[in-house]
Amino acid sequence: MFCNQCQETAKNTGCTIKGVCGKTEETSNIQDLLMFSCQGLSYLTIEARKQGIDTNAESKHITNCLFMTITNANFDDKSIIQAIKDAIKYRDELKSKVKIAENHPSINWNGKMMKNLMQKQKKSEH
Ligand code: SF4
Repeated sequence: MFCNQCQETAKNTGCTIKGVCGKTEETSNIQDLLMFSCQGLSYLTIEARKQGIDTNAESKHITNCLFMTITNANFDDKSIIQAIKDAIKYRDELKSKVKIAENHPSINWNGKMMKNLMQKQKKSEH
Protein backbone atom coordinates (compact mmCIF):
# COMPACT_ATOMS: atom_id res chain seq x y z
CA MET A 1 0.00 0.00 0.00
CA PHE A 2 1.02 3.54 -0.56
CA CYS A 3 -1.33 6.42 0.15
CA ASN A 4 -0.42 10.08 0.51
CA GLN A 5 -3.90 11.42 -0.12
CA CYS A 6 -4.11 13.57 3.00
CA GLN A 7 -2.19 15.54 5.61
CA GLU A 8 -2.61 12.79 8.23
CA THR A 9 -0.36 10.47 6.28
CA ALA A 10 2.14 8.36 8.25
CA LYS A 11 5.47 10.12 8.93
CA ASN A 12 4.21 12.89 6.68
CA THR A 13 5.25 10.85 3.64
CA GLY A 14 2.70 8.09 3.04
CA CYS A 15 0.70 5.32 4.71
CA THR A 16 2.32 2.06 3.66
CA ILE A 17 0.86 -0.69 5.87
CA LYS A 18 -2.68 0.49 6.50
CA GLY A 19 -4.15 3.94 6.44
CA VAL A 20 -3.82 6.00 9.63
CA CYS A 21 -7.45 6.86 8.88
CA GLY A 22 -8.45 3.21 8.41
CA LYS A 23 -8.47 3.34 4.63
CA THR A 24 -7.57 0.08 2.91
CA GLU A 25 -5.15 -0.34 0.03
CA GLU A 26 -8.04 -1.15 -2.32
CA THR A 27 -9.95 2.00 -1.43
CA SER A 28 -6.81 4.10 -1.76
CA ASN A 29 -6.15 2.66 -5.22
CA ILE A 30 -9.73 3.18 -6.33
CA GLN A 31 -9.65 6.78 -5.09
CA ASP A 32 -6.48 7.36 -7.12
CA LEU A 33 -8.36 6.08 -10.16
CA LEU A 34 -11.27 8.35 -9.28
CA MET A 35 -8.94 11.36 -9.40
CA PHE A 36 -7.43 10.11 -12.64
CA SER A 37 -10.87 9.83 -14.22
CA CYS A 38 -11.73 13.33 -12.97
CA GLN A 39 -8.51 14.64 -14.49
CA GLY A 40 -9.64 13.41 -17.90
CA LEU A 41 -13.09 14.86 -17.37
CA SER A 42 -11.56 18.17 -16.29
CA TYR A 43 -9.56 18.49 -19.50
CA LEU A 44 -12.82 18.14 -21.40
CA THR A 45 -14.85 20.52 -19.24
CA ILE A 46 -12.19 23.24 -19.57
CA GLU A 47 -12.19 22.90 -23.33
CA ALA A 48 -15.99 22.65 -23.51
CA ARG A 49 -16.44 25.89 -21.54
CA LYS A 50 -14.04 27.66 -23.91
CA GLN A 51 -16.36 26.56 -26.70
CA GLY A 52 -19.47 27.82 -24.91
CA ILE A 53 -20.82 24.45 -23.80
CA ASP A 54 -22.57 24.25 -20.42
CA THR A 55 -20.64 21.91 -18.11
CA ASN A 56 -22.58 22.39 -14.86
CA ALA A 57 -23.45 18.71 -14.47
CA GLU A 58 -19.89 17.60 -15.19
CA SER A 59 -18.37 20.19 -12.85
CA LYS A 60 -20.79 19.18 -10.08
CA HIS A 61 -19.71 15.58 -10.54
CA ILE A 62 -16.03 16.54 -10.23
CA THR A 63 -16.80 18.47 -7.03
CA ASN A 64 -18.67 15.47 -5.59
CA CYS A 65 -15.76 13.20 -6.48
CA LEU A 66 -13.30 15.50 -4.74
CA PHE A 67 -15.49 15.43 -1.65
CA MET A 68 -15.57 11.62 -1.74
CA THR A 69 -11.79 11.57 -1.31
CA ILE A 70 -11.48 13.75 1.78
CA THR A 71 -10.30 11.82 4.82
CA ASN A 72 -12.93 9.49 6.27
CA ALA A 73 -15.72 10.84 4.03
CA ASN A 74 -16.30 7.79 1.87
CA PHE A 75 -14.69 4.35 1.97
CA ASP A 76 -17.51 2.74 0.02
CA ASP A 77 -15.70 1.15 -2.93
CA LYS A 78 -18.93 0.51 -4.83
CA SER A 79 -19.97 4.15 -4.82
CA ILE A 80 -16.44 5.25 -5.72
CA ILE A 81 -16.41 2.85 -8.67
CA GLN A 82 -19.78 4.15 -9.78
CA ALA A 83 -18.39 7.70 -9.62
CA ILE A 84 -15.45 6.61 -11.84
CA LYS A 85 -17.88 5.11 -14.36
CA ASP A 86 -19.94 8.30 -14.33
CA ALA A 87 -16.82 10.44 -14.85
CA ILE A 88 -15.84 8.35 -17.86
CA LYS A 89 -19.39 8.60 -19.23
CA TYR A 90 -19.47 12.39 -18.80
CA ARG A 91 -16.00 12.66 -20.34
CA ASP A 92 -16.91 10.57 -23.37
CA GLU A 93 -20.14 12.50 -23.91
CA LEU A 94 -18.11 15.73 -23.99
CA LYS A 95 -15.54 14.12 -26.30
CA SER A 96 -18.29 13.64 -28.86
CA LYS A 97 -19.00 17.41 -28.77
CA VAL A 98 -15.57 18.98 -28.23
CA LYS A 99 -12.36 18.96 -30.22
CA ILE A 100 -9.39 18.75 -27.88
CA ALA A 101 -5.69 18.94 -28.72
CA GLU A 102 -4.56 17.68 -25.29
CA ASN A 103 -3.68 13.98 -25.28
CA HIS A 104 -3.20 13.17 -21.60
CA PRO A 105 -3.75 9.43 -20.83
CA SER A 106 -6.68 10.29 -18.55
CA ILE A 107 -8.59 11.52 -21.60
CA ASN A 108 -8.51 8.11 -23.26
CA TRP A 109 -8.42 5.76 -20.27
CA ASN A 110 -11.20 3.20 -20.64
CA GLY A 111 -11.38 1.83 -17.12
CA LYS A 112 -9.59 -1.46 -17.89
CA MET A 113 -7.17 -0.97 -15.00
CA MET A 114 -10.13 -0.66 -12.65
CA LYS A 115 -11.61 -3.97 -13.84
CA ASN A 116 -8.28 -5.71 -13.23
CA LEU A 117 -8.06 -4.15 -9.79
CA MET A 118 -11.56 -5.28 -8.85
CA GLN A 119 -10.87 -8.82 -10.06
CA LYS A 120 -7.75 -8.91 -7.90
CA GLN A 121 -9.72 -7.62 -4.94
CA LYS A 122 -12.44 -10.26 -5.36
CA LYS A 123 -9.83 -13.04 -5.51
CA SER A 124 -8.16 -11.82 -2.33
CA GLU A 125 -11.54 -11.86 -0.52
CA HIS A 126 -12.05 -15.60 -1.21
S1 SF4 B 1 -6.11 9.25 3.41
FE1 SF4 B 1 -5.77 7.78 5.09
S2 SF4 B 1 -4.46 6.21 4.16
FE2 SF4 B 1 -4.31 8.04 2.85
S3 SF4 B 1 -2.60 9.24 3.61
FE3 SF4 B 1 -4.41 10.00 4.68
S4 SF4 B 1 -4.47 8.81 6.58
FE4 SF4 B 1 -3.11 7.72 5.17
